[in-house]
Amino acid sequence: MSAGLVVSDAVVRYGTTTAVDGVTLHVAPGEVVALLGPSGCGKSSLLRAVAGLEPLAGGSVAFDGVAVDDVPVHRRGFGLMFQDGQLFAHRDVAGNVAYGMRTAADRAARVDELLDLVGLAGYGPRPVATLSGGERQRVALARALAPAPRLLLLDEPLSALDRALRERLAVDLRAVLVATGTTAVLVTHDQDEAFAVADRVAVMRAGRLLQVDAPADLWRRPRSREVAEFLGYEAFVEASSVAAAPLVEALARDLRDDDVVALAEGAFVVRTGGGDPDAVKGEVRGVTSRRGRSEVRVDVEGIGTVTALAPVGARFDAGTVLPLVVDADALAVLPAGD
Ligand code: ADP
Repeated sequence: MSAGLVVSDAVVRYGTTTAVDGVTLHVAPGEVVALLGPSGCGKSSLLRAVAGLEPLAGGSVAFDGVAVDDVPVHRRGFGLMFQDGQLFAHRDVAGNVAYGMRTAADRAARVDELLDLVGLAGYGPRPVATLSGGERQRVALARALAPAPRLLLLDEPLSALDRALRERLAVDLRAVLVATGTTAVLVTHDQDEAFAVADRVAVMRAGRLLQVDAPADLWRRPRSREVAEFLGYEAFVEASSVAAAPLVEALARDLRDDDVVALAEGAFVVRTGGGDPDAVKGEVRGVTSRRGRSEVRVDVEGIGTVTALAPVGARFDAGTVLPLVVDADALAVLPAGD
């Protein structure tokens, strides 16, 4: 018997479409797991099946060792939060948060505590129509946590917000989940959000889980080229090739000849001071200026076109040949045979 959520070999079908194709996943008590994958890979279907909103065509869902397959949605003790917080327009903020709280006793104190937790202390009497998008989602989170659900299911909770706000809220969301010890499953197509919020990330593709790991492990050791490409690794080179030699040196460990080294953006950094005749050379294709850095598309012999990083505001003409240094933090080694 396992504590927490156990999904065993779950299958969800819509007519002839198999949206979830045999998923097995364990979420431990207090753990936050992100289901990450491109649109249409079956994330929401899996979440909805866990919630009881979608019937399973195979497999089962259990919580704390008890199957919930025959338990209706509202009896599972799971909380739900969606992209659009679906607040009640006719209730004020406090009224929205209080909704679903069982006991009338100290309800007001609990509402205050929850609003404080989500960074909205004093917002209780505000009509929800006066809130910004980010504030609405904070209220939706407080409302979802109000009944102290034994599992919180979040479906793209930040997707409707603009990027800067999303990044800030992702940090706050994690802090709230950790502070409340909430066991949670978060659906997102945004890698940064998954990495910011979750203890473990489950990469999903075409109805299946490809890899489930802690963010750092997923980034450093993607199990397959498919996972690496999804995470943004943009070039792949055999460890035994001449071009891989400086990469293997930077990794400072022994690789098998048939291992593959994957390069993410920033695997090369444009060397600014002093010449080094042995440096890797990259021929500039184009430069994009970003906040805090420039991204330089360069052709590197034997590797292909990759994105090297340079100081903010750097400008290089196409065709310029630049010396590059390797940043091992943007490299991963894929197991042989993939
Ligand atoms: P994601 O959440 O990863 O974007 P979904 O779970 O929404 O993916 O969808 C997975 C697959 O199931 C897609 O091919 C989608 O078109 C299909 N699908 C989802 N919901 C329904 C539905 N209610 N009826 C028919 N097909 C659906």
